Amino acid sequence: MAALATPPVRTGLVVIQALRKKHCADCGNGPLALLVLEDGVPRCLDCVDLGHLVFLPRGDTALTRRSREESGLSAVVVRFNRRRSRYERQGVLVEEAALARAEERCLADAEARRRRRVRDARRRAMEDVRFTDAFAAEIRRLFPGCPAGRAVAIAAHASVRGSGRVGRSAAGRALSEVAVTSAVIASVRHLDTPYDELLMSGVPRHEARRRIAGVVEVTLRAWRDGH
Ligand SMILES: [Zn+2]
Repeated sequence: MAALATPPVRTGLVVIQALRKKHCADCGNGPLALLVLEDGVPRCLDCVDLGHLVFLPRGDTALTRRSREESGLSAVVVRFNRRRSRYERQGVLVEEAALARAEERCLADAEARRRRRVRDARRRAMEDVRFTDAFAAEIRRLFPGCPAGRAVAIAAHASVRGSGRVGRSAAGRALSEVAVTSAVIASVRHLDTPYDELLMSGVPRHEARRRIAGVVEVTLRAWRDGH
């Protein structure tokens, strides 16, 4: 009877996963996969009026907790670990309807989380649009000669880097004159000068920047002056 040593005292009903072939002391059914010990005597679940419960393996904490909350009758299922000489929890037995209600609650939670993610994504997209608009407007204020489409393209590029993850204060800083100007310079450098070709042909970055500085300066002045 070693494997049927008395399980630890718990509040609530305890059902044991049998390690050895045991038969029910009342009805003789067996061997039993699950049994209840009363005064050291094994009985089947039907004889102790737990036969209608369904097994929920451990692992999903929220589902387990809610299933037990929903279930008028429930039991903890344990199995004796010989190596550790102790009973270990395997799951719970709960009413089938309770498990179904608990699953619905968990699904509702998952659905609520999914909806919140959609709302958050939509809000971030709106913020990105506002940020891009503000950035483009600031470019046009500082550089009236910058073509409108070009200002939007520069702003869109900046907002991909700027607004999404870094938050509002950083987005505000990104709209400073220095930040806006450096975004415009970067665009002019790449689109209106041979900067990229110079880099690709092995010209060091500082040398490449020095060579194109004149063109950048002329373009910026023209845009600043509005033509
Ligand atoms: Zn029985």
